[in-house]
Amino acid sequence: MSHPRVACVLLLLTLACGDGLAPPTQEDPVASATEIRAAGSLITPAKVLSWLSVITDDSLGGRNTPSLGLERTAQYLADNYRAWGMLPAGESNGWFQRYPLQATQTNAPNVIAMARGSDPVLRDEYVIFSSHMDHLGTVGDGIGGCSPFTRPDGTIDRICNGADDNGSGTVAVLAIAQAVAALNGRTRRSIVVLNVSGEEKGLLGSAYYADHPTVPLANVVADINLDMISRNSADSIVVIGKDSSDMGATLTRVQAAHPELHLIAADDIWPAQHFYNRSDHYNFARKGVPILFFFAGTNPQYHRADDEVSLVNAGKLVSVAQLAFYLGVEIANTVARPRSIHLHRLAIVAGQSPLPAR
Ligand SMILES: [Zn+2]
Repeated sequence: MSHPRVACVLLLLTLACGDGLAPPTQEDPVASATEIRAAGSLITPAKVLSWLSVITDDSLGGRNTPSLGLERTAQYLADNYRAWGMLPAGESNGWFQRYPLQATQTNAPNVIAMARGSDPVLRDEYVIFSSHMDHLGTVGDGIGGCSPFTRPDGTIDRICNGADDNGSGTVAVLAIAQAVAALNGRTRRSIVVLNVSGEEKGLLGSAYYADHPTVPLANVVADINLDMISRNSADSIVVIGKDSSDMGATLTRVQAAHPELHLIAADDIWPAQHFYNRSDHYNFARKGVPILFFFAGTNPQYHRADDEVSLVNAGKLVSVAQLAFYLGVEIANTVARPRSIHLHRLAIVAGQSPLPAR
């Protein structure tokens, strides 16, 4: 019979060494709240401004659909996604989806990347972050397009660089992708980033994507769309579609959990302008996918050549991107998928065909 005290000391020594008593701790398949905040803090004003300065450079010619500047923008986004270890989620295992343009007998790109989720079942469901990367090109690229701007020195700017429309949403999705990549696949659902083109020509790229999705659309639980998010009041962002699904309530909760963003997620304050139907989320909504649309409103430089980086509020852009990121991660990790709660009243008021409820 062994002495109980000796046995105890032996046991303590074994515990202290830790050999063979407990299996090696496995990384949790879902990132902790602290880790999610750390990933969100990767989104900074300096980064979004540096990316914005690239895609709004005059050499890209205003990112018209189609154009070489648009192609270079698409490649730039894909190169970043690749560098961060995201997976290509376009056609043929690539980063792009190309869709035909009837008017010019040519085609244009969407960019699609993914971070695969960790749950054996829910990883086959998807949260999409979308934004349009195209803009209006230069004066003369299409009727009703880019308006010239006469500078104070009398020279004329003929390139619509689209810093707010939609350079702001484009770099927000880029920043969100980097934050998502930092989670290393530790969300339950998979997260997709989608940069569409042809928005300014009539939501062409998102319409094609919704009709030819590269992940099963029935498994897309939400589209979070960002278009023109860097102007107007610094402490608020309009979020359209809050009353169309229970994601509105989720957003309210996520916003309350992040007072450090100093950002109010406001209701649609311009219902008469039917913005619900005027950006890329609409092509998901018409397929029955729950959507939220982050939008700061128009401004005097809307569709003019002086929509430039100097007018962008980078702090607001970052806060909006962080709020959207926290929201998307929350949706990706919540086992119950978002539910449409009724037909969106604006769709009814606007006389649109009823949206299928989900
Ligand atoms: Zn526009």
